[in-house]
Amino acid sequence: MTFLVLGVDAATWKMIKPNLDELPNWKRLVEECDAGTVVLEEEPLSPLIWCGMFSGSYYDEHGHREFVEDGNIVEREDLDVDFLWDELEEKDVRALNVPFVVPTYSYRVDFEPVGYGLPTTEEEWKDELEKVTEKTKEMLNEGPDVLVSVFTTLDRVQHFHWGENMVLDWYKKMDERLGEILFDTGFLEDEENRLILISDHGFCSFGEAEVQTLPEETEHGELKGDHHEEAVVVTKNVERTIEEPQDVYRAVMDVFG
Ligand SMILES: [Zn+2]
Repeated sequence: MTFLVLGVDAATWKMIKPNLDELPNWKRLVEECDAGTVVLEEEPLSPLIWCGMFSGSYYDEHGHREFVEDGNIVEREDLDVDFLWDELEEKDVRALNVPFVVPTYSYRVDFEPVGYGLPTTEEEWKDELEKVTEKTKEMLNEGPDVLVSVFTTLDRVQHFHWGENMVLDWYKKMDERLGEILFDTGFLEDEENRLILISDHGFCSFGEAEVQTLPEETEHGELKGDHHEEAVVVTKNVERTIEEPQDVYRAVMDVFG
């Protein structure tokens, strides 16, 4: 039995639900699994949310909200927090490309993040989808107890192209990868396996979010979209209802803790 937590940074139902006919694997997931929405109470910042999701703690405990603080890149060692893979080190737990820091964090996996964990060009987006998929499949094949694996590409695509047709193209590419990982490998056919597929926040037009998370201009150009407080969650064979990011940590601990 493997407990897979598959993260898709910034995936939003706003893109998925109206396009299910073009996203066959999302459609299957919605039909065959439990699909819901996590409404964030905390700021929809990727480092803060991923950190809470895998440590079970809240911002006032872990204190982490930005990749860069006071001009310094925040590293894993700077955070006074235990993640589920630290607490379950006696189990076979692995983590791949988790974006609570840049470059993204991996645990017991040899993985070089694409674009320093912030893929920015189409080439890098393709590359990340490919590499994370291959590595995830390779590890699933080895049957770890817990595998955490995260794609960052949709977040990056949406920041620069929200509202453009190309965003749906990248959801389709992501959909194919989900199919490879979850269906083609037979992962979901095994009744013992457990799945949480989750985003850290949703997405919306710039200025529409409750909390603005980024400046409108960056070194790569103008940003068209921003994070939204409604995140996507799909589960299979998980008893706990995932109502907030910290429930992911709790759901894994329910089984292995
Ligand atoms: Zn994010």
